[in-house]
Amino acid sequence: MTQQRNITQVIPALDTADGDGVKLRRSIGAAEGLRHDPFLMLDEILADDAADYIGGFPAHPHRGFETVTYMLEGQMQHKDHMGNVGLLKPGGAQWMTAGRGVIHEEMPQQDEGRLHGFQLWLNLPAAEKMKPADYRDIEPAQIPETTLQGAAVRLIAGQLALAGQSLSGPINGNGYPVTTDPLMVDIQLAAGVEISLPIQAGYNAFAYLFEGELEVASQRASAPSALKLSDGDSVRFLSKAGARLLLFAGKPLNEPVAQRGPFVMNTQEELYQAMKDYGRGTLTE
Ligand code: FE
Repeated sequence: MTQQRNITQVIPALDTADGDGVKLRRSIGAAEGLRHDPFLMLDEILADDAADYIGGFPAHPHRGFETVTYMLEGQMQHKDHMGNVGLLKPGGAQWMTAGRGVIHEEMPQQDEGRLHGFQLWLNLPAAEKMKPADYRDIEPAQIPETTLQGAAVRLIAGQLALAGQSLSGPINGNGYPVTTDPLMVDIQLAAGVEISLPIQAGYNAFAYLFEGELEVASQRASAPSALKLSDGDSVRFLSKAGARLLLFAGKPLNEPVAQRGPFVMNTQEELYQAMKDYGRGTLTE
């Protein structure tokens, strides 16, 4: 039996800035209580004027979770304490597991034109929060793209099995296992297109609508907003005038979350330890 997911909460994306003055819109994670386990935060970086992004995200720490960056327009360079250097290009992504600690910078590589991308903060289970840091660049060509039911789809993480087609994203539990088993799909709906996608029942899911309008089970929503979805084993999106969205799903951790800025742990004690380690310069050791 199939059960369609519907919208249980609309979280409008609010204009804000982070890093050194980078303009962005925050939805999931904009306030306490707006998380959707295992998803901690979603930012849409969107700026046309270089003054609104040129400062980038200078050196800063993370501990206890993963950051997933996905670019649509413009380029950013990542550099971290492990010596990794990566260039994020349009259509490409980066999967970084902060684990016990990463110190990195994310800097725009342009001084004109639009910068448009997303950063998701994905939680790690208690047992993995202190694992060694890891990092993976995903080239645009590694992300499978296809047309499903008239919609243009790119699969960044997880698997999609539909009649006649089976897609596997570059982060798919084989080469780079992720305990929360995330699904992350970029979906472009032309006017009048309807798409129905399977989502593992019991997983938490949300859609981030960043262009246009759509309907989920006859509930209407407009961009920019995050749409938390009910449980079920599929979701159906219909757009009368066209829409662009990202769809996320993942296995909930059901663990306490203690957060202070770029540190996300289970308890206050672990947060104090993270701040102490960072202060002493031993965060990544
Ligand atoms: Fe960062």
